[in-house]
Amino acid sequence: MPTRHDIRNVAIVAHVDHGKTTLVDAMLKQAGAFAAHQHVDDRVMDSNDLEREKGITILAKNTAVKYHPKGGGDPVTINIIDTPGHADFGGEVERGLSMVDAVVLLVDASEGPLPQTRFVLRKALQARLPVILCINKTDRPDSRIDDVVNETYDLFLDLDADEDQIEFPIVYACARDGVASLTKPANGTVPADSDSLEPFFSTILSNVPAPVYDDGAPLQAHVTNLDADNFLGRIALLRVEQGHLRKGQTVAWIKRDGTITSVRISELMMTEALTRKPAEVAGPGDICAVAGIPEIMIGETLADPENPIALPLITVDEPAISMT
Ligand code: GDP
Repeated sequence: MPTRHDIRNVAIVAHVDHGKTTLVDAMLKQAGAFAAHQHVDDRVMDSNDLEREKGITILAKNTAVKYHPKGGGDPVTINIIDTPGHADFGGEVERGLSMVDAVVLLVDASEGPLPQTRFVLRKALQARLPVILCINKTDRPDSRIDDVVNETYDLFLDLDADEDQIEFPIVYACARDGVASLTKPANGTVPADSDSLEPFFSTILSNVPAPVYDDGAPLQAHVTNLDADNFLGRIALLRVEQGHLRKGQTVAWIKRDGTITSVRISELMMTEALTRKPAEVAGPGDICAVAGIPEIMIGETLADPENPIALPLITVDEPAISMT
């Protein structure tokens, strides 16, 4: 099967305050420092300002880090999906996990895995997603890295992780300093054998499966989340599974009840860093946003009008979300 080697879709699961925001910020900064095309960035800034004036700049729910592999090679877009660190009643966890091919479990080196992340991790393991363990804040004077790793293994066993899942790679990090290592640092110290998050980036590249797709298959894009914008109205977040979704294209909207309506893709957007930008086309594995379909719902499919095939509805453990 063909593979999108230029994409990785990953969720970060973390208890509040374990350092998710700091880590993602550092990833964005370091990926930006690698950017070979500064003029592109300048242009992005300009259009950003223009959009802001028109009031249509939207802070995306996902972050897209464009990573330029050290030593050359094509850039890879790492889409980072935010999942809540605990159970909620709207199926937010399932929605987030349905967009990704692996999860990073981010754990504070002193606090260890906390009960609130248990629910999310259980969902990820049930979805058979591979896990990368990132032990953050190794510099904390009260860090207890070995214990925290052991507590995480215990948690995996308790949650019936399969053999592959329990062989997770471990990355040690000080997100505050933007440093990661595959070698365990001493408690209370910053990983010293690396001066960047490079080991974390390469672990993501080698352990998060790149999206695979069926070449020539008709368009199938899954509505995985919803957002709202004053200017654009309801926004559907989609993961394209097969085929291409193009701006201006007319597609089949397959609703939850199985009925099909033709709709035009009037606004297509993709995330760059933290903002959504207009896009012309989204391909297999891409995460994109579509505006202009006011009543679209999570779990529904946008499909090829000639050959409309629905993707499975996203199953949610909690009380069903309202479908009206
Ligand atoms: P989030 O709630 O998971 O997004 O956590 P934040 O990224 O907001 O971080 C919570 C707090 O932990 C902040 O005060 C950060 O500065 C701090 N923090 C993040 N990473 C590190 C780290 O590697 N070492 C230390 N000592 N503090 C950190």
